[in-house]
Amino acid sequence: MRLTFRGAAGGVTGSCHELEAASRHVLVDCGMFQGSRRLAEDNAADFGFDPAAIELLLLTHAHLDHCGRIPLLVKRGFRGRIITTAATRDLAELVLQDAADLQAEDARHHNHDGNEAPLYDANDVAQAMRLVEGTARYDTPLELAPGLRATFRNAGHILGSASILIEAQEPSGLGRIVFSGDLGNRNKPLLNPPEPAPAADAVVMESTYGDRNHRSVADSVRQFQQVVAATLARGGNVVIPTFALERAQDLLYYLREMVEQKLMPASTGVYLDSPMAISATEIFRHHPESFNPETREQFAEGRDPFALPGLQMTRERQASVALNQVHGAVIMAGSGMAAGGRIRHHLIHNLPDANNLILFVGYAATGTAARQIIDGAREVRLLGETVPVRAQVCTIGGFSAHADRDELLQWAASAAGARIYLVHGEGAAARALAEAMIRRGQSATVAAADAFVNIAAANTAART
Ligand SMILES: [Zn+2]
Ligand SMILES: [Zn+2]
Repeated sequence: MRLTFRGAAGGVTGSCHELEAASRHVLVDCGMFQGSRRLAEDNAADFGFDPAAIELLLLTHAHLDHCGRIPLLVKRGFRGRIITTAATRDLAELVLQDAADLQAEDARHHNHDGNEAPLYDANDVAQAMRLVEGTARYDTPLELAPGLRATFRNAGHILGSASILIEAQEPSGLGRIVFSGDLGNRNKPLLNPPEPAPAADAVVMESTYGDRNHRSVADSVRQFQQVVAATLARGGNVVIPTFALERAQDLLYYLREMVEQKLMPASTGVYLDSPMAISATEIFRHHPESFNPETREQFAEGRDPFALPGLQMTRERQASVALNQVHGAVIMAGSGMAAGGRIRHHLIHNLPDANNLILFVGYAATGTAARQIIDGAREVRLLGETVPVRAQVCTIGGFSAHADRDELLQWAASAAGARIYLVHGEGAAARALAEAMIRRGQSATVAAADAFVNIAAANTAART
């Protein structure tokens, strides 16, 4: 088997790994580079391989940094099969349509410099979705071709997410390689924890939090309950900038629990003010097979884990604007980093009042409004306005969708003897994780962009 790192090598985003195995040409993920302008150029650049020559694309999960360049791959000639779980297929469609819309909008704003041509449009997304088979089930091997088999395993990261084990019959024997995908942290409210790594000759593994441990989920939930209850008790609003996938649904789940435990009045208005989060929540409801046993049981008993008595989903702009009048309510809206989306209007209305709480529950990149508020700015610029920050600001770090350093080490420990290649991490995080693995007697290397490795079967030495 020959493995080439085409993305997320030396950085977090742009996951794309090329594998030649059992005389087939396979891709695992084809994600978007996200962040700076230079990365935008990376997205438009040549893939480094011929898209038409790829026969199979296996998709680990629906985040944009894993699926975001699939429509471009199809536009450039890929005609093979795309295989993933049913939940990932549905979520990827939503995510890719949204990406096409955003690119069209960006192109309208930046057309004067001629540099922001969309990578693809809604038609390309539809074209790509026709190739997607949502047939993979956890722990059920799929025969992809003679001598080539893939098994999707629960990665516990977002709904439908998977690690993928590929087994290939090579002249030297049966080769086994596993791609971790993104690994979830334990004790998530809706999902099972990740299955540990299977035995393999090689492991391609994420390292996002390779140098850090999170605060525990239980502590984070307690902190969340405390600050939300205190704000509502004084008549203030709780404004939560949130990501549409998984985080919004986790928060609905925690808020419903607060009502059940009488930590929050059942009459509290809870507003999910994000068309994408609303659509994502509907998709979640269609995939009970992807949940942990407790959540599945709730569905089976006809209890909807996301149904709060005071929940209102505001798809229409007018309903969103009407939220300027509410008090003592919880408002969730995108984007999670307040870099765009409806949350900016809610921040303009709620930041100036000391009764309100702005609650951050996810990652905030440098330079975003979220980052400035978290860092204690006295005022921020939003939609051309200067807005004073008088509201209480709180950050809860333990709701990450990613495994932390200890969980990553634990996941990989069961792949004793495998060569581990670390991807999907900033340099420092990936190096720290590699060093920790080496100290534990494992063989770990930080993957370099466009480098290839030959993976020999049955743990014989790989050659770089
Ligand atoms: Zn992810
Ligand atoms: Zn990712």
